[in-house]
Amino acid sequence: MARTIRFCKACDKYTMQEKCPVCDAVTEQKRPPKYSPDDKYADIKRGVKKEEYEKRGLL
Ligand SMILES: [Zn+2]
Repeated sequence: MARTIRFCKACDKYTMQEKCPVCDAVTEQKRPPKYSPDDKYADIKRGVKKEEYEKRGLL
């Protein structure tokens, strides 16, 4: 049995099965939504670093 969450396009439903229990269509693996924590954290890091530099009088 698949461990990942799958999705039936036909029924617009989530299932854990590779075949939709409702319509028997092959379900597709649902990928996690795209997000970019790197960008967010990069900004935060930049801010933190800047603060650190300023404290040390390096800027
Ligand atoms: Zn279905």
